[in-house]
Amino acid sequence: MNGVFIGLGSNLADPIEQVITAIEALQSIPETKLVAQSSLYASPPMGPQDQPDYINAVVELSTELSAHKLLDQLQVIEQQQGRVRLRHWGERTLDLDIIVYGEQVIDDERLHIPHKGLADRSFVLYPLAEIATNLTIPKFGNIADLVQNCSRAGLNKINLDLI
Ligand code: ATP
Ligand code: MG
Ligand code: MG
Repeated sequence: MNGVFIGLGSNLADPIEQVITAIEALQSIPETKLVAQSSLYASPPMGPQDQPDYINAVVELSTELSAHKLLDQLQVIEQQQGRVRLRHWGERTLDLDIIVYGEQVIDDERLHIPHKGLADRSFVLYPLAEIATNLTIPKFGNIADLVQNCSRAGLNKINLDLI
């Protein structure tokens, strides 16, 4: 199945390194390949404001796993990288969300696909647009239109050569 997009986010314990390590870990998921990866971005936190800025990226995977099996694998990687849930939208070493899973629409107790918050999240849309210029997302429409309707304020692409 192609067209599976994962959003990555971290704001604890060397977030750039967390995201780079997570992209490597995604490549060891069974029956799954990394197809593309966006630049890294820095963004202000959603929710509680008394937490550090985030580092975000989006990657495309090709996988034979179902969305639910893929979520299991993503949660293992979150745990490996020390994810602890303290408060809603609070600080974390690693968040891995399934943003889009091909044409699938899933709404159950464990999964909402496409990801519910994507239209309001510049840190998802801009990196996604970088690697999927012509994407049409079920229920949401064209990535180009979504980007146009979402302010880029506060989102900064990271130049890894400068770090
Ligand atoms: P948000 O989903 O708004 O970005 P969050 O990423 O901080 O918030 P988590 O604490 O990482 O939320 O996840 C809470 C639950 O969300 C997970 O246990 C999972 O079952 C559920 N979930 C629903 N849809 C998705 C999805 N598309 N990708 C990942 N998790 C999802
Ligand atoms: Mg999230
Ligand atoms: Mg999450």
